[in-house]
Amino acid sequence: MQQAVTTLMIGDVRVRALVDLDGYALDLAHVFPDASPEQIDPHRSWLEPTYIKDKELYLVVRSLVVEVDGRVILIDACVGEDKERPTRPLWNHRQASGYLERLAMLGLKPEDVDVVFCTHLHTDHVGWNTKLDNGRWVPTFSRARYLFGRKELDHWMAQPDRATVAGGALVDSVIPILDAKQADLVDDGHDLGKGLVLKGLYGHTPGQLGLDVRRGNDRALFVGDAMHSPLQLAMPELSTCFCTDKAQARATRMAFLEAAVEDKSWLVPCHFRGPLGSKIKRNGKGYLFAER
Ligand SMILES: [Zn+2]
Repeated sequence: MQQAVTTLMIGDVRVRALVDLDGYALDLAHVFPDASPEQIDPHRSWLEPTYIKDKELYLVVRSLVVEVDGRVILIDACVGEDKERPTRPLWNHRQASGYLERLAMLGLKPEDVDVVFCTHLHTDHVGWNTKLDNGRWVPTFSRARYLFGRKELDHWMAQPDRATVAGGALVDSVIPILDAKQADLVDDGHDLGKGLVLKGLYGHTPGQLGLDVRRGNDRALFVGDAMHSPLQLAMPELSTCFCTDKAQARATRMAFLEAAVEDKSWLVPCHFRGPLGSKIKRNGKGYLFAER
């Protein structure tokens, strides 16, 4: 199941979706262990069938291709191909995903990408960083600088067994970029110019960074995995089973959701299916889509 190309304009900044995998199904109760069925049920009317259905949660895994003044920035590098991911059968030794063909449909070649920004270093955000070339992992985007959060990288590199970090992704999708000397380590507040600034969104992982875009009166915040599902608009207190620090993730999410209402900012999460951006409004203790 592949969705049509979607575009979001933030002033003159163009954002397009590059889908790696759509309709990825996860167990709803596993991802949101703190939400009872009784709490979820009232929201099914607007979440089904796109975002949840019965006991399943549906996600898209996509990169966001940001073009500003002729510069191409690819946010998050999805699952990739040929990677050994034994715990996720759909991702294990994956082939013929069509991702690079869809990049071509956007009129871009891998060498056209100037910057790859990984919001965090989970498996589904770094996969296309590298491709297999004669048995070696080499950068897929041959000319690009790759931006990794310093705090994020330090955390994962300090783990006692690097081979198991992010299901193997640190070793096959991150360290080869360091070895190729194409990585730049960045921090909260890093300025990419043109109104694009990286912003710490900690909690889902220790060093996750988002991207704040301001062009004229238009604003957007790319929030990475600070949210996984629109269910978290209705229940913003919900963190996922994937979050390293659920309480910190909750505080981060509640802060930027409130700011997004005040600033009339587009929110651009990685895993929401359908339109790229959402503006939101308050609704009781939570929020609702106001514009998409
Ligand atoms: Zn993710």
